Amino acid sequence: MSQKMNVLFVISEAEPLIKVGGLGDVGGTLPLALKNLPESMTDPYVIDMKVVIPYHDQIKRNQWPVEPVVSFKVLSRNGFITANVFRALKTDLPIYLIDGEPIQNTGTYSSDTSIDTKKYAFFSIAALEFCRAIKWKPDLLHAHDWHTAVAIQKLSQIRSYDTFFSQTKSLYTIHNLPYSGGNHPEILYAFDIHQAFDPEIPQYMRNLPMALGLDAADHINTVSKTYAEEIMTDGFGNGYQNYLRSHSGKVSGIINGIMMEQWNPSAEKVLYKNYSVDTLSDRIENKRMLQQELWLPIKDQTVLFVMVGRMTYQKGFDLCVQALRQMRDLDWQIIILGTGEDSIQKTCLSLSNEFPDRVRTELRYDEPLSRRLYAGGDILLMPSRYEPCGIAQMISMLYGCIPVACATGGLKDTIKDPFDYPDEYTGFLFSHPDVSAAEWAMRRSIEYFQDQDNWRQIQVRAMKQDFSWEKSAKKYFDLYKSIQSSK
Ligand code: ADP
Repeated sequence: MSQKMNVLFVISEAEPLIKVGGLGDVGGTLPLALKNLPESMTDPYVIDMKVVIPYHDQIKRNQWPVEPVVSFKVLSRNGFITANVFRALKTDLPIYLIDGEPIQNTGTYSSDTSIDTKKYAFFSIAALEFCRAIKWKPDLLHAHDWHTAVAIQKLSQIRSYDTFFSQTKSLYTIHNLPYSGGNHPEILYAFDIHQAFDPEIPQYMRNLPMALGLDAADHINTVSKTYAEEIMTDGFGNGYQNYLRSHSGKVSGIINGIMMEQWNPSAEKVLYKNYSVDTLSDRIENKRMLQQELWLPIKDQTVLFVMVGRMTYQKGFDLCVQALRQMRDLDWQIIILGTGEDSIQKTCLSLSNEFPDRVRTELRYDEPLSRRLYAGGDILLMPSRYEPCGIAQMISMLYGCIPVACATGGLKDTIKDPFDYPDEYTGFLFSHPDVSAAEWAMRRSIEYFQDQDNWRQIQVRAMKQDFSWEKSAKKYFDLYKSIQSSK
């Protein structure tokens, strides 16, 4: 006899409707991967998943087709606020969109934290009330990052007396701990949300949405095992480390997957030449054409580094830029693609000025170019100071572009270094986010690159890896089951 497991999946972004960053990938792909798990893996359960996101103005502007589902009122101390729920049509799984006054006329994220706090507090409470409105009792609430933490807190406040939610358990997934949300006790008060209670959470942080989610969740997980360990340390805990250490029994990590079919160098039209592990010798065409596209000298023997990503302090671009200056004795080229903080953009541009025959900096978001970089570059540099999961390193490995990365979070969990895996290595890691460590790893990678036969073997190993969602989706399902059966 099959048994239904109702999962309310509340998140701020879900592709294909809305994607600002990696969170949108997870919102769109993890629920789908869970839905597609073979029955034999979920037996005796059948997962009934409802994904709920805000009806952001950006989705309205895209005119994605929707149908109305239900309307209801959300109670606040300033009066009732109407919530209108729509269902997106033409998506592979049900995605529900919540609309209401606090959600309208806002960006997906706002630089004004009071606007965002109100928007996401209303959204989080409305997501719970939506279940009541359609008479669908969730067994599990799965909420993500600070935006939806209020749902976790609200649930823990009401389930002792509210029979509709009395059996609902909660899972809170941290995708990026430093983003805690704004400090607005007056907005929480307006929605009758209590502050975090645990004495291990510093007093001044107790009204932050992230604190509420951590404190009230039945279980907490992050997007890699290593990041789950790191957030319990002073270096990565952002003030929550004492709390997380004292509740380590409810903290775990599951690495994100990627949609493998979206990242396939043998089929993509934007590449100069398609290739696979079986036709790896064709890959060089992509390097030559890339060098030509960006007016770099066309040289097969010169190692071509690439760096792709958001230009924020987290991503550590500055470390590699400085390391490259110290490596002027070696033969290398680099193409940097990204946008972000002004100072980091300038740092990259100044490297281009210093090495006009070796460096190109492209300051824009350009997905086709990013794919050509993964396909034509020899080595991806990913010197993140912290990296909860990271997907660029997984994509680049599937394209045979070998990563050099800081051994943190998901980078450590997905890249195998020759020191630890002498026969199976797929990239190069350095243990501290500083210039000399980055330089050491980059020099090491160039040494390996000189032995082209061996390099080919590294590429084959990297490209053959399975980063698909299925394994991780199964881990999420097992976690759902264990949370549901816990007291
Ligand atoms: P994060 O989610 O922290 O930004 P990830 O490594 O998880 O970092 O994901 C970054 C994704 O965004 C990768 O797929 C990367 O290729 C893509 N990306 C980042 N910046 C750019 C850019 N300027 N142009 C094209 N793609 C980009």
